[in-house]
Amino acid sequence: MTTAPEHVVVVGASLAGLRAVEAARRAGFEGRITLIGDEPHLPYDRPPLSKDFLDGVEGVGDPMLTSEQNLAELGVTVRLGAAAERLDVAGRTVTVGGEKISYDALLLATGSVPRALPGVEDIAGVHMLRGLDDARGLRSAFDDASRVVVVGAGFIGSEIASAARKRGREVTVIEALPTPLVRAVGSASAGAALSALHERNGTTLLCGTGVDGLETVDGHVTAVRLADGRRIPADAVVVGIGVTPATGWLADSGLEIDDGIVVDEHLRAAPGVWAAGDVARWMSPDFASLMRLEHWTNAAEMGAHAMTNILDESASKPYRHIPYFWSDWYGHRIQFAGIPIGEPVVVTGSWDSDEFAALYREGDRFMGVLTLNRRADIMKYRALIGRGGSWAEAIEFAASRRQPTSASA
Ligand SMILES: Cc1cc2nc3c(=O)[nH]c(=O)nc-3n(C[C@H](O)[C@H](O)[C@H](O)COP(=O)(O)OP(=O)(O)OC[C@H]3O[C@@H](n4cnc5c(N)ncnc54)[C@H](O)[C@@H]3O)c2cc1C
Repeated sequence: MTTAPEHVVVVGASLAGLRAVEAARRAGFEGRITLIGDEPHLPYDRPPLSKDFLDGVEGVGDPMLTSEQNLAELGVTVRLGAAAERLDVAGRTVTVGGEKISYDALLLATGSVPRALPGVEDIAGVHMLRGLDDARGLRSAFDDASRVVVVGAGFIGSEIASAARKRGREVTVIEALPTPLVRAVGSASAGAALSALHERNGTTLLCGTGVDGLETVDGHVTAVRLADGRRIPADAVVVGIGVTPATGWLADSGLEIDDGIVVDEHLRAAPGVWAAGDVARWMSPDFASLMRLEHWTNAAEMGAHAMTNILDESASKPYRHIPYFWSDWYGHRIQFAGIPIGEPVVVTGSWDSDEFAALYREGDRFMGVLTLNRRADIMKYRALIGRGGSWAEAIEFAASRRQPTSASA
């Protein structure tokens, strides 16, 4: 057993960072922990921000992950509203608000930041959604807006569209690609099946066209002009065109930055430095490739795992994780586990219904599953992928569930 660090610094006071801190104390670590976050808020949960919180349902408060009292009980020094500005890997210091903080071990959990639509920064009525303040602003914008345009038909954009519909707004979603979500779910049929939920729930989806510009009156957006010449009137525009890892401040740190902080199987980026959550691109032992995920479950598990490795490097274990995410649109639960590879086969329900399961394979190996409204199945499929289950086993499991269709083996 190697000596445990005396002072662990965690940069990023959100899901991965908090789960890491909790894991340290659970493991009996008695040393100092400093948690640094650039937002003014205590750690809160992001998924509700595009769901219940935005729906405007009475009584939905801020989705906090912890409280001041919990953090005090964990014995953590918390510095909020303070961005880490510089990292000196050799000197083991991180600079925050001009002050150098020394560490024995550092966990980077800075997450990701939304991509902006160029040229619209100063226009009133244009929103993005990543944090609590964004969600508060958007929720009150929905109070006044009758026509909402969402740019980007990814998962977050689609959830925002769904929330706006729930509040009775007229909603149009603009997507540059011919079919939404093809990268996330691996196939045009799967992407089309999910995005059909928009039309079925009264949202207009316009695909294969980009945004040419916004029209304004007195600095406030009034319409979105599309590349194909159409003009969509709008009182509020929400840009949901994806995120990039929050690594800007690390540019001169010497860490390998390539679509995230590149870490090894043990989540180590450099001597004394680990990374976890949306920002980390790790060598996955399960899929033998570098992976970076923007999923809640990964951030939570990876943060805790990184901390366990930090506290005892000699007992460090590779981070094994089968990707999993969910998304809620119009009262429907979409879930995905594994990786989307090849053309999925629908084994339960059908693409055009409100309930299906579709499986992905690579040769004889079962690789992934996409479900709509099949909550009871998904974790069993995920466990099978984790065990290196075969295609035949996946088909057998599907057949044991309700409503099987004729699956091709
Ligand atoms: C609106 C929304 C809905 C979502 N819904 C789902 C869902 O339904 N299902 C799902 O699986 N996933 C969902 N996600 C994704 C999930 O929330 C993220 O994967 C998760 O929050 C990642 O956690 P993290 O701790 O790695 O990063 P983050 O939550 O992004 O936190 C990183 C923190 O670090 C801070 N930070 C950044 N740079 C610095 C710096 N230099 N110094 C100090 N602090 C810094 C950031 O401000 C932030 O507070 C959703 C995300 C959003 C935004």
